[in-house]
Amino acid sequence: MEGTSLPQETEIPSPSALLAVLSFAADRHRNQRRKDNATPFINHPIAVAELLARVGRVTDVTTLQAALLHDVLEDTSTTAEELDKHFGPAVLALVQEVTDDKSLPSPQRKQRQIEHAPHLSTRAKQIKIADKISNIIDITTQPVDWPLRRKREYLDWAEKVVAGCRGSNAPLEEHFDQILKTQRELLDRGD
Ligand code: ZN
Repeated sequence: MEGTSLPQETEIPSPSALLAVLSFAADRHRNQRRKDNATPFINHPIAVAELLARVGRVTDVTTLQAALLHDVLEDTSTTAEELDKHFGPAVLALVQEVTDDKSLPSPQRKQRQIEHAPHLSTRAKQIKIADKISNIIDITTQPVDWPLRRKREYLDWAEKVVAGCRGSNAPLEEHFDQILKTQRELLDRGD
């Protein structure tokens, strides 16, 4: 059924194809930390790929590779040419799809993510949903130095981006809804 079915790919991910990407991403993010300034950054792309595989039951290698690499263009000096050379044009195109235009100021980038979400490919939509799940968990459970209001605004914004990604992966969408609800309650209790 269009919109609610699981991804159709039956390809078995090659361990070396995934591990080569993981090794590359870990190297590129090696000096970065998450918003708590303690957690190694690479934990986030790993969490995104793990959510796609476990919750979203995604077995498509390109999607899992792009998930591990989804922040390298945005947050490191890695170039499109490098991704193309190492991992090919399909992985590059998918990473580019989920990369913000850094020349825009943050509020515009955020608005753009909401507007662009419905036009993304199914693979990119799945990565976006898993990315938002991971970020919501991190900003609500890690010691992130953000005022409560900013955390709530992040959750509201993530909900709008994911609204445009619906119909791409039902289990992932349900998981997002669950996480959004429980983490909102967690923030409310911390009031
Ligand atoms: Zn991310």
